[in-house]
Amino acid sequence: MERVYNFAAGPSTLPLDVLKKVQENLLCYGESGMSVMEMSHRSADYSAIRDGAEKALRELMNIPDNYKVLFMHGGATGQFAAVPLNLLNGSGKADYVLSGVFSKKASVEAQKYGDIAIAASSAGANFSFIPATTRESFRPDADYVHICFNNTIYGTRFPYIPDTGDIPLVADMSSCIASEPVDVSKFGVIYAGAQKNMGIAGMAIVIVREDLIGKARENTPAILDYRLAAENDSMYNTPPCWSIYITKLVCDWLLENGGLEAAKARNEEKAALLYDYLDHQDFYVAPVDAPSRSMMNVVFRTGDAELDKLFVSEAAQAGLKSLKGHKAVGGLRASIYNAMPKEGVEKLLAFMKQFAQNHSQQ
Ligand SMILES: *Cc1c(COP(=O)(O)O)cnc(C)c1O
Repeated sequence: MERVYNFAAGPSTLPLDVLKKVQENLLCYGESGMSVMEMSHRSADYSAIRDGAEKALRELMNIPDNYKVLFMHGGATGQFAAVPLNLLNGSGKADYVLSGVFSKKASVEAQKYGDIAIAASSAGANFSFIPATTRESFRPDADYVHICFNNTIYGTRFPYIPDTGDIPLVADMSSCIASEPVDVSKFGVIYAGAQKNMGIAGMAIVIVREDLIGKARENTPAILDYRLAAENDSMYNTPPCWSIYITKLVCDWLLENGGLEAAKARNEEKAALLYDYLDHQDFYVAPVDAPSRSMMNVVFRTGDAELDKLFVSEAAQAGLKSLKGHKAVGGLRASIYNAMPKEGVEKLLAFMKQFAQNHSQQ
């Protein structure tokens, strides 16, 4: 069986070069005589992998020295709880921007711990755009403001970084981390589940400004406490060793291929192929307002649920897999993360054109 083009939203396609490297070293990593899966996390070999992952991520994202990089268990959903437990420690208030399913989940989780307000929302427009905010949108005594930078399900991305004044800005970047350069210093915390653009499931990457560490609530589970993670180089307990290893290889691959400026150029080119086509035809509907469009998750539909289904199955037969939209919105979605080659998008585009031609009324 040949490899297909995998457009899944996450877990998602990995760079082929990374998979080959994994395969090469699967039974015996370097001079260690064992697989990375079998290594003690306290061994010198594994320490080099963990340190290498952090170093590569810092270089890739240009992370300032006053930020800690943590590799934590529990994916992005673990961070929905970790963020309020670690940061909701002043007024006990936090403001959330509602822009889709995951920001909603994050806010509902935070409600267990404090006074959570919705500062802005596009729920009334089926999350088809990113709501505008100003400094006045946020309560001045909020402990933090939370946004979901790229909305994986609705296919939107923040076209701006909210101005929160002195209030720390927390961003869920699960589906857009390392897709383009970002100014880390504008954020208090950036977190991401690794399985979309950075590796495999089971881990959250957390980039946190140092002054926000060490003030967790007393009843914070040890596994979610940023201070314990930071003081122990993310090894307070056995870390997600294999996930950290894959993330290191993904970061190395991005660095070898020109870093985030080059990644951005590749991603813009891929997204433009699809959006330019969608804008100049009338078979498919692309529901997202142009300025809010995601570069990673391209959402569209035919307008006929049965036809969407047929699209998904015929595409799969053509080696283009996992194009079904999320169950919350239906329709179709192409996730075109860093690891999706341009040829994959070109094949998809050709398929879309052919499908439209075959099923047009005229
Ligand atoms: C996938 C996703 C999540 C959930 O990630 P888990 O690692 O499964 O907890 C949260 N936020 C966003 C933006 C996502 O895309």
